[in-house]
Formats: sequence, C-alpha cells, structure tokens
Amino acid sequence: EEAQYSMMLRTRSPGGFIPWQLYVALDKLSDRYGNHTLRATTRQGFQLHGILKENLKAVIVDITKNMGSTVGACGDINRNVMAPPAPFKNKPEYDYAREYAVKLADLLAPQAGAYYDIWLDGEVAVTASEAPEVTEARKRQGAGTAKTNISDIEPIYGTQYLPRKFKIAIAVAGDNSVDLYTNDLSLVVITNAANELEGFNVYVGGGLGRAHNNDATIVRIADSIGFVPVAKVYDLVKAIVALQRDYGDRHNRRHSRFKYILEEWGVEKFKQVLLEYYPTKLADSRELPPFKYQDYLGWHEQGDGKYFVGVSIESGRVLDREGLQLKTALREISEKFHHDFVLTPNQNLLITEIAADEKEEIQKILDRCGILAPDQIDTLVRYSMACPAFPTCGLAIAESERALPDILARIRKLLVRLGLEDETFVTRITGCPNGCARPYMAELAFVGSAVDEYQVWLGGSFNSTRLAQPYVQRLHINNLEKGLEPLFFYFKKDRVEDESFGDFCDRKGIEDLRQFAETYVSE
Ligand code: SF4
Repeated sequence: EEAQYSMMLRTRSPGGFIPWQLYVALDKLSDRYGNHTLRATTRQGFQLHGILKENLKAVIVDITKNMGSTVGACGDINRNVMAPPAPFKNKPEYDYAREYAVKLADLLAPQAGAYYDIWLDGEVAVTASEAPEVTEARKRQGAGTAKTNISDIEPIYGTQYLPRKFKIAIAVAGDNSVDLYTNDLSLVVITNAANELEGFNVYVGGGLGRAHNNDATIVRIADSIGFVPVAKVYDLVKAIVALQRDYGDRHNRRHSRFKYILEEWGVEKFKQVLLEYYPTKLADSRELPPFKYQDYLGWHEQGDGKYFVGVSIESGRVLDREGLQLKTALREISEKFHHDFVLTPNQNLLITEIAADEKEEIQKILDRCGILAPDQIDTLVRYSMACPAFPTCGLAIAESERALPDILARIRKLLVRLGLEDETFVTRITGCPNGCARPYMAELAFVGSAVDEYQVWLGGSFNSTRLAQPYVQRLHINNLEKGLEPLFFYFKKDRVEDESFGDFCDRKGIEDLRQFAETYVSE
C-alpha cells in the first residue's frame, strides 16, 4: 500500500486577487481535504496544507472551476507576480500595476498542456477543452499534432525550464508594499503628467534564500538597471528570463538563482550580456520619491465611492480559535456580500468593493468574530511576519509561526521594562535560512539555526529598502531577553531623535553593537 503523502498546494494569484467564488471554494476545500486552515503567503497567494496526494486532483479541479489556478505557483518557473494590493480606482498607477501583474503572469505561464492533461482530464467535471486557459494553451501548441516541437510550445522556457524559481514584482512609486528589492525582477510603474503609463524603472537580482555555514550562498537586494518604455516591456522581461535560463547555474541548486549572476558579473557586465537578448541600451531610471511601507489595514476609500477594509491575519493563518473567528468571518462576508479579496504581500487581506451602506454590517461581523481594528493590534504584531515552518514545512529546523506570538509578547514586555513601551519595528522569523518570510530585510529577525535556536539579524529598515546583517549565530529562545536587552538599552541611550531601531542598528554597525552587548551589565 502506498504511503499517505500529505501535500501543500498554492494558488497562482497575480497581485493577490482572490475572486470571492475562489475564496468560498478554498474555505470549503480546507475543511474537506486540508487542515481546516488557509494560509496567506508572503507572495500574495493562498496555501492549503495537509492535502493527501490522492485528493490533489479533486482540489485542483475545484480551484480551476472557481476562477483560480495553481499553474506556476511552484517549480523552476516564474512564480506568482506581486503587485500593490490597494484597489484604488482613482490612482491609475495602481491599475497599471495590477494590469501588468496579470499580463506578465500570462506571458511567463508555462505553455505546454501537461498540467491540464495530468490534473484536469479524465473523469473529472472540467475537461481540458472546457477550461479557457487550456483552450489557449492547446491552440498555441497545435492540439492534435502529436509531434509538436517542445521549443515551439515553450519559446521562453525551452525543454528544461529555468534553473530555479524566478520572482517578479510590480510596484508603484512611493509604495513598497511588495518588498520590491527582494525580487529577481521588479518593475516600478512610471506615468506621465496625463497619468498615462510611460514605462517602468527596472530592478534585477534581488533574492533572500541562503544556507547556514555556507558563505557561497548570499542574500542580495536588487540593482536598478534603467527604464523600459511600456511598448518594450514584454521584450525586456522575456530577455531577462532567457538570460537566466541560459546563464543560470544548472549544476548547483544553491547557486542557481538569478541573483548570483548579478553578484558575480556586476551590473555593467550584466547589461552588456543583456544586449544579446534585448539589443537596445536601457535609458536611465526615472527619479522616484522615497518608498514607504504600506499595510492598508482598516478602512479606506477606493476612490470610486466604495471602500475597502484591510484585515490583519497574524502570520497569514486563516483559522478559527478561541477568541478569534477569522475563518468564519471571511466565509460569512464572502458568501453574503460577494466582494472579492486581495491578499497583501504581508499576509493580510483586503475586502474590496464595499458600498457605503454595507460598511456597518461588515464591521459588525468583524467585531463579532474578534478581529481587531488596526489601532487595537500591538504594532510589533502588526508589522511582523513568520513562515509556516513546523509542522508543515519539511525544511524547518526551528519553530516559526507557532513561536512568533510568544516571542513578540516577550519582546513587548522587555520594551516596557526598559521604558520603550511605544516602540515598534519590523520583526520577522523563519524556521530555516531559506527566508520565506523575508527576514533579511527586517529590523529584527530570527532565522532558525537549530531546534529552539536562531541566528539574529539586525538593521533592515521599516520600508524594506536595506539588507539586515547577521548579529549572533545562535540565540537560544530561552535567552531571548538576555540577548536583546543590551541592544534595546543601547538604542534608548544613543538613538538620535525619532530614529527607528533598524536605522539605529545600521548606523552603529554590527561590531559596535556586539562590543556594547559584551560589556553590558543589566541593572
Ligand atoms: Fe520552510 Fe524554511 Fe521557508 Fe520557513 S523559511 S517555510 S522553514 S523553507
């Protein structure tokens, strides 16, 4: 008898858009086939955990029938394309970002029909010929011609796909809700005075996965390489992906992400080689205002007379537990009001298209189910992120999601004791150095290094534009207060006015922080 394999399944949701029908379907699927929870990912998709292998087909069919997809959400291929989640209707740059997230997701979707053959054929209700995506894919590959050349079917990916996953984000000037510097490729929307889309500033070579005790693996933020006019953006994106296809390392998976090309070549050589794929020199990047971090929690006007409300999902986990009926609330709202959701890159969720006369009823449901308003949430919790780690991730070496609430409560207690009760900063935690919750951009991060032990990173910025640095290699969770107290004390004593914890750590530098901690005596 075959072992009972339990799988994780992830949606492909460009820009985090979740039609209400899909949400209702996912909610039911999580109860019928999963572990009764949904998990919002840090790339604006939903994950279902605990799906038995024998049920995968039924789940994928149901997702596809309900306006969802899982194509390209995993694998050595372009992953979910991110975009700022806010559904503003009076800010065209947000429309452009959403529009191009979908267009680029389609441009880089796998073209071969294997996914449809495997998951959507046979006895199931949806047949390949009925699903619109399938019809398109079939048309492109010439359905019925058994001897189609694979390179014709996959003009970008070829016969072997990419050496490794590839991540794209689209941002709006001034809004870094997508964590743009952490992507392989990021595009920032540039509009002209008439609010028309002119093109995009282009950033390449970000990436955060690394391994402990292997200095050859690196974390890296993306470099700015110039501006591309809108008419040429597909050509440029295809060129960059093709360059990674051809030059990315196919022998060592720890060295195969696109960032290693940028790190080893430098920007100038990269641009030189890129000319072989995209034979026009890129114009200089357009000047941008500083980026801010936005989480869009609470009520906001969409700009068309309607509203959206951002709901905090701690660690992205949608569940019902004592005192919090988040899963119930979201199901009730989606079933009753039929409003689409948008997942944010920080694992929260926006309920969109709310009419003025629906606001009160929706707020009542949120209140009844124990969902806190933004000003009721501890800011440490509000700006934190955790990866799933145990018990669902096979790569975990330390707790993450399950450990975070207690860690944040202990940090808050320590801050209060030190007279820093109003302080807040971005805290992130992962169960291994792969860094799924983007810890290396945080002001304070814990990266699992052994059971109950974490590497501590310091000095990222609140708006996620700067890399943190490793501070200690192994902090046992029992020594959390002992390890952090010197840092917070030093911060209180030496900060300049309004300086954030991350900026302070960056200004002092890791060596200085270490020296202070070594001589620190607790009062
Ligand atoms: Fe798993 Fe590591 Fe990613 Fe956490 S960071 S989800 S432990 S791979």
